[in-house]
Amino acid sequence: DGPTIYAITPTFTRPVQKAELTRLSQTFLLVPNFHWIVVEDSIKKTPLVTNLLASSGLTYTHINAPTPPHYKLGKNDPNWEKPRGVEQRNAALRWIRNNLNESHNGVIYFADDDNTYSRFLFKEIAKVKRVGVWPVGLVGGLMVERPICDKATGKVTGFNAVWKPDRPFPIDMAGFGINLKVILEKKDALFAYEIQSGFQESEILKQVTHRDELEGLADGCSKVYVWHTRTQPPVLNTETLLIKKGKSSNQ
Ligand code: UDP
Ligand code: MN
Repeated sequence: DGPTIYAITPTFTRPVQKAELTRLSQTFLLVPNFHWIVVEDSIKKTPLVTNLLASSGLTYTHINAPTPPHYKLGKNDPNWEKPRGVEQRNAALRWIRNNLNESHNGVIYFADDDNTYSRFLFKEIAKVKRVGVWPVGLVGGLMVERPICDKATGKVTGFNAVWKPDRPFPIDMAGFGINLKVILEKKDALFAYEIQSGFQESEILKQVTHRDELEGLADGCSKVYVWHTRTQPPVLNTETLLIKKGKSSNQ
């Protein structure tokens, strides 16, 4: 049997949340040996996420970890101003370290709730020995941001990134997986708040690996199996009026 893929998904309440999590859950149902770690950015677990997970048919762990108010993105703040998902991904890493050990065969993947995942991605994630990398579509100002790697050996020789190419690891959050044994070995590796925007990936990766030991996957980093899609917030002007009258059309 292959390793269990532990996918860590931070998520927060907003109108599209149920749609996003539904889309993800139905992709994840296609993946063997899958364990979804869903971390709500909230002070309590919500009924919406609780019910969605209970009826998903997936193996999952549901936790909540609110972003400290000081770090929370305001409604009109530009999205690069504060890091998102830090508290939630760290809570999931702590859960993993408290609940899994060397006897488990697993790979950790950070799966944001708005991206688009091909079922073929998970075959690549399952190959990760220590730290694996692959291309991500629609990110960094490119159709595809990718590691450059040797097809035969998987050795990574560079990156095509043009957005902040001086990042220690110029890769999106969706573009790497870390074997469980590495997460357990490097037991203090976590994400952090007070770092430059766009450097979260580098922050965790520099604590667990070096550029020259990355494993390039997805057919020599030639295939795109994940896209950094972002969902447009829906127009709900009429709903706002209905809510004021206590007559929301809501779910
Ligand atoms: N997220 C969160 N709380 C927030 C904003 C975002 O938990 O206040 C989650 C979000 O649901 C997603 C992840 O953090 O799973 C990354 O956020 P986003 O997709 O907005 O980041 P971007 O696509 O801009 O990198
Ligand atoms: Mn996103």
